[in-house]
Amino acid sequence: MVVGAGPAGASAALTLARAGVDVVLVDAAELPRRKCCAGGVVYRALAELPAAVEMPWQRRCQRIQFHLPADGLHFQVERQLPLISMVMRADFDDALVRAAETAGAEVRAPCRVSAVHHRGHHLEIVTADGTLDAGFLVVGDGAVGTAARAAGWLVPVESVAAINWEIEVAEDVFAVLRRRHDSTSAPSSPATAGCFRSGTTCP
Ligand SMILES: Cc1cc2nc3c(=O)[nH]c(=O)nc-3n(C[C@H](O)[C@H](O)[C@H](O)COP(=O)(O)OP(=O)(O)OC[C@H]3O[C@@H](n4cnc5c(N)ncnc54)[C@H](O)[C@@H]3O)c2cc1C
Repeated sequence: MVVGAGPAGASAALTLARAGVDVVLVDAAELPRRKCCAGGVVYRALAELPAAVEMPWQRRCQRIQFHLPADGLHFQVERQLPLISMVMRADFDDALVRAAETAGAEVRAPCRVSAVHHRGHHLEIVTADGTLDAGFLVVGDGAVGTAARAAGWLVPVESVAAINWEIEVAEDVFAVLRRRHDSTSAPSSPATAGCFRSGTTCP
């Protein structure tokens, strides 16, 4: 069983299903899941994606500019291969889940895992859909997931509080924001603020 249908869990389920393993992929959320995300897949991450999955890319960026107006600095980097590939997050995750399903994985969502019991050589996994037996468990339930903790595994993750707020803007403001991604972080603090575009197309 694989818990979590984000990029980690869906890729794991896809890889296992392609290797001929019987796999059930569960997620607490209804799929496709909407998640606040800038939708930028960097070149190194791109190389790690499972092969032969049609990705719904919206824009491949070969040039990136950094503007630091407070310091009067401006940098630009340009490459032939895409430095970053932009995608709507729900579509990206959904492409991986559908590929896993096509490869033979059974997808159950919404279906939250609430407890994991070790029973000799197998695991009893308590979900909102009932109790399931599994030979092994892969947990890809994200930074704030609870399944790994429920299994009694240590989760060395440092959490930070996040606030997510969506606003609608007028067309003329939107035209300005369309091609930029703004983020701010203070050098002396771990806080970061970002402005992401939501809806059906990405920046
Ligand atoms: C504001 C913001 C912007 C970001 N922008 C980018 C970006 O541009 N590019 C980039 O590469 N990364 C970005 N990230 C980081 C990226 O979102 C994460 O690295 C990525 O989502 C991690 O994937 P994952 O599969 O490990 O976990 P997640 O995507 O978090 O998926 C975990 C899944 O597990 C499910 N789950 C949790 N608990 C349970 C349970 N008990 N039972 C069943 N299911 C459960 C959840 O519903 C969820 O679907 C951004 C993050 C944030 C917060």
